[in-house]
Amino acid sequence: MDLNGKQALVVGLKKSGLASIELLVRAGARVRTTDLKPLEQLPDAAALLERLDIPFRQQAPEVFEGSGLIVLSPDVPADLAPLEAARRRGAHVIGEVELAAPFLKGKTIGITGSNGKTTTTSLTGHILKEAGFEVQVGGNIGTPVTAMVESSREDGWNVLELSSFQLETIVEFRAHIGLALNVTQNHLDRHHTFENYAAAKGRLFETMRAGDFAVLNADDPICVDYADRTAAAPQWFSSKRNVTPGACLCNGKLVLDGKLLMEADEIPIRGRHNVENVLAAAIAAARAGVEHGAIRRAVRTFRAVEHRLEFVRTLGGVDFYNDSKATSVDATLKAVEAFSGNIWVILGGKDKGLDYSQLRAPLAAKARAVLLIGAASSKIAEQLNGAVRMIDAQTMDRAVALAYAEARPGDTVLLAPACASFDQFRSFEHRGEVFKELVKHLDPKI
Ligand code: ADP
Repeated sequence: MDLNGKQALVVGLKKSGLASIELLVRAGARVRTTDLKPLEQLPDAAALLERLDIPFRQQAPEVFEGSGLIVLSPDVPADLAPLEAARRRGAHVIGEVELAAPFLKGKTIGITGSNGKTTTTSLTGHILKEAGFEVQVGGNIGTPVTAMVESSREDGWNVLELSSFQLETIVEFRAHIGLALNVTQNHLDRHHTFENYAAAKGRLFETMRAGDFAVLNADDPICVDYADRTAAAPQWFSSKRNVTPGACLCNGKLVLDGKLLMEADEIPIRGRHNVENVLAAAIAAARAGVEHGAIRRAVRTFRAVEHRLEFVRTLGGVDFYNDSKATSVDATLKAVEAFSGNIWVILGGKDKGLDYSQLRAPLAAKARAVLLIGAASSKIAEQLNGAVRMIDAQTMDRAVALAYAEARPGDTVLLAPACASFDQFRSFEHRGEVFKELVKHLDPKI
């Protein structure tokens, strides 16, 4: 892509927008910028724009006029009316990942899915690193892809977490190895329908080529459909049955390409969903050229990513786990599934329009009680009514104290809220940190 002298507009000035500006400037584009917020509320952006002498205008329909290239941050809906108008007049409207594509050196592993992206991306990066590969990890986690361009190497690997928002506008961006972990209801506020959401993720596979590998969940119907939409060779994983080519969990063993990889109980992160993440990462690593023994050794030294079913401490025989990242019902289901019973589950927060009644049966089977916090409490209480004991804790500090007061040795207190955090916290990370602080300051029972 020749950007020299091109009029480009960057929409959305958070981390990936700022990295896009830097790439565009390096490539010689004439950059303008916009955001819904005024510049005073965007201190990092203000500093960069001043340093590079780049103009800003707060978002309004006319801002979108006159630019041949419009680069969207993942937060910006791709179907805004002025963007549709810009497309009609021939403007190229792309996301930050697509902007990076022609400049990114080396090979790419792209990882998408509704749940498990961060864990699987970190794990895949960890396996490649431990195996001695030149690797950088980023995308939807950590470093934006545009900011990875400078450090990318012809002989290196880019392991990228990719969200539906980043994928929906890709054309040239191509993964040599693409992973889809699962596709379940999420982000319907942005994509409107489940079909649109599934199609956005599916773009990852549509731009792949013959000789590439599509690592897909054999037990997820949407992932299975992706196999029909790609020139890449499908590689399957399943935690339920033997599949080939690929990897499966069979009789407590992980089998990769027909050979034993490791025992399931060697995996240091809990739950069947994490077995699936390991299977997917193992296939990707194997296709990148890592041997079975090296994959096994690396998996054994992997630790849970913070806020993803993260072990906090044991106090008085009670285990505490922080899964603040469980912001959807599906993720909470997986967290509950990871324990055999006797759990005290902290649920609630900002409702994302999800159906909590799917939690009735698993909670009835495994939970001693549910502790409700935040704005979604009454909706959850209604939908779980009669299935499980519920305690109206309202706040995190009361939830932790009440659960610990009643828990017996051998029980587990699990924060897996099935909701967004923004009613009482700045972010899911903040919520998890508050939980961990409260847990660390609990006094032993006398
Ligand atoms: P993402 O980046 O896709 O949000 P994370 O690795 O951060 O994924 O995990 C998000 C939540 O989903 C966590 O609560 C975690 O326990 C749960 N989870 C992780 N892997 C899976 C999976 N393969 N299937 C379902 N849920 C998962």
